[in-house]
Amino acid sequence: MPEDVTMEAETFAFQAEIAQLMSLIINTFYSNKEIFLRELISNSSDALDKIRYESLTDPSRLESGKELYIKIIPNKDDRTLTIIDTGIGMTKADLVNNLGTIAKSGTKAFMEALQAGADISVIGQFGVGFYSAYLIADKVSVSSKHNDDEQYLWESSAGGSFTVRTDPGEPLGRGTKIVLYVKEDQTEFLEERKIKEVVKKHSQFIGYPIKLLVEKERNKEISDDEAEEEKGEGDAEKEKKEEEDKPEIEDVGEDEEEDGSKDKKKKKKTIKEKYTEDEELNKTKPIWTRNPDDITQDEYGEFYKSLTNDWEDHLAVKHFSVEGQLEFRALLFAPRRAPFDLFENKKRKNNIKLYVRRVFIMDNCEDLIPEYLNFIKGVVDSEDLPLNISREMLQQNKILKVIRKNLVKKCLDLFDELAEDKDNYKKFYEQFSKNLKLGIHEDSQNRKKLSELLRYHTSASGDEACSLKDYVARMKDTQKHIYYITGESRDQVANSSFVERVKKRGFEVVYMTEPIDEYVVQQMKEFDGKQLLSVTKEGLELPEDEEEKKKREEDKVKFENLCKVMKDILDKKVEKVVVSNRLVDSPCCIVTSQYGWTANMERIMKAQALRDSSTMGYMAAEKHLEINPDHPIINTLREKAEADKNDKAVKDLCILLFETSLLSSGFALEEPGVHASRIYRMIKLGLGIDEDEAVPNDEEMPAVPQDAPAADSEDASRMEEVD
Ligand code: ADP
Repeated sequence: MPEDVTMEAETFAFQAEIAQLMSLIINTFYSNKEIFLRELISNSSDALDKIRYESLTDPSRLESGKELYIKIIPNKDDRTLTIIDTGIGMTKADLVNNLGTIAKSGTKAFMEALQAGADISVIGQFGVGFYSAYLIADKVSVSSKHNDDEQYLWESSAGGSFTVRTDPGEPLGRGTKIVLYVKEDQTEFLEERKIKEVVKKHSQFIGYPIKLLVEKERNKEISDDEAEEEKGEGDAEKEKKEEEDKPEIEDVGEDEEEDGSKDKKKKKKTIKEKYTEDEELNKTKPIWTRNPDDITQDEYGEFYKSLTNDWEDHLAVKHFSVEGQLEFRALLFAPRRAPFDLFENKKRKNNIKLYVRRVFIMDNCEDLIPEYLNFIKGVVDSEDLPLNISREMLQQNKILKVIRKNLVKKCLDLFDELAEDKDNYKKFYEQFSKNLKLGIHEDSQNRKKLSELLRYHTSASGDEACSLKDYVARMKDTQKHIYYITGESRDQVANSSFVERVKKRGFEVVYMTEPIDEYVVQQMKEFDGKQLLSVTKEGLELPEDEEEKKKREEDKVKFENLCKVMKDILDKKVEKVVVSNRLVDSPCCIVTSQYGWTANMERIMKAQALRDSSTMGYMAAEKHLEINPDHPIINTLREKAEADKNDKAVKDLCILLFETSLLSSGFALEEPGVHASRIYRMIKLGLGIDEDEAVPNDEEMPAVPQDAPAADSEDASRMEEVD
């Protein structure tokens, strides 16, 4: 073998952000350094999961080492801490890619989180946990052996680069050995007591044995001759100790020598002997197999943290077992906050680990839980599935379908329980309302239950959001429907002209201000048998008494002509022009057809079409103009139109009114410049500036597009009359 060639180290530069992250880890003061061990153990555990999963379908993968474990070896003399696992290992390419050259979205996000004051312990959430090794080490070496490659050695003392070479060290068989060259001031992590404490705190629920190489002393019985030899080695300390330990010698003698012969004892001596031994640090049996009554909240918290890398406790937990035709146990957690990339990629992996009879099978099993519940973390342990089940087989598996159904039901129960505590539920809802809403969209079977979990601000709810059940409880006797409005923000919808009349008539309006709400109402349609009605759509009929009905009929007749004139002027811009029963202070508004998009939906779709130019053009919402029969502007306009339906001022004002109500109804203008020029003309009129006089100064006026409708002086004078 041309050894000197292959042994030569190749040097690689760390990807820029990773280099930045490493220097941040090295140079910033963090007191919570111990989390490095949790991160490395968690990586080992993942690597063990991977080889176990491979071996389910191909047992020969374990020929390189059957025993799956993690081992920690402190060495005070060399000032190193070594962590070995018999996991899947890394090929040379893995070492180069995973430990330094491939950028990860979490790197930047993590640094931002740190700068925003987050604790270093959140590192695991961002997928860069490995680098926490540099919290306590100034140099790290990683030896790794993957079944498909030679054993390689990765080394770096940070500083922007690392090396990879064929590993000249001892063969590992399979797996990874990480050696931390511990900083001078971090030697406490070489103390047995400290390591035990940290492992117990952060890693006690890891599903593979974590062994610590511990130094022990034992009594050894030796003959006098042998004792002389020992002394001969010049260990004065030991001798002294032996003297002090005399009583123990007696004990040993009594225990071991049942015949009680004192003579024999005199000939022998007992000395202390140092030796090392593996001690398993995580002997507790899997928490989900235990009786819930015996498990404290703290234990659940610790388990949750070790399962998820979260730095905070869970918000709520559900621990249950299902028995009968099918048997499984599960432990489900709702976290306190959504991960930074919850909705980033469409197919985000779920966080439920699947076990079969206590053997870990896989995480990220897509069919275990629907996408909208992908924030739920936990474990499922089935008694019925075969051990060698593959992902493909799982897709068709009936047992899995039943498990999934149960998990969804239990999650909903969990949310129900959460909802009983208002404050806690508020926290939960802030983080995960989008998931519930996605559920309404996706999960028709549980739509009803999910809709009960929604919370909205309404025109009557004040600062606290309320449930639709609360809304229904407050409904008036005459009220048949649930009124809602969708829009950009609470302020915007609360002040919109659509809400005016409904509110004035004493009805409550639900404010829906998240984009996803548009999809929610499309699916939900009703709640508790009451239809959901948008106050921005056509045909909004508020319950009215005889007098109101009569007036509306009269208004219809009275304004029939104006509606026709306006429709002719606006032409294709609107579907129709009708008399409104929803306005109080505004002269008119734009509503959309019953089954078409709302203004808000049009806004959302436009934003999406712009973001992704490949999508087809958006379909504009169908618009209806509604006029307020009680408004002086509309009344005067009616008179003018009746006097002369070809009146140019009527035409100009009509367009101006239309454009303005587009804006106030939440639509965007297609040609804002044209609208602006109309407004400027109005301003000129208001200031008494003669259109002709203004010509020399035109350049200083805000730009008016060439094709803006010309305002001749005749027009202008008529407009003035309107005021
Ligand atoms: P994360 O584990 O969250 O992906 P890390 O920075 O901790 O991020 O690790 C980067 C990658 O390096 C891992 O995804 C894994 O592929 C690889 N890796 C780290 N430690 C080990 C190990 N002990 N055995 C095998 N692969 C490992």
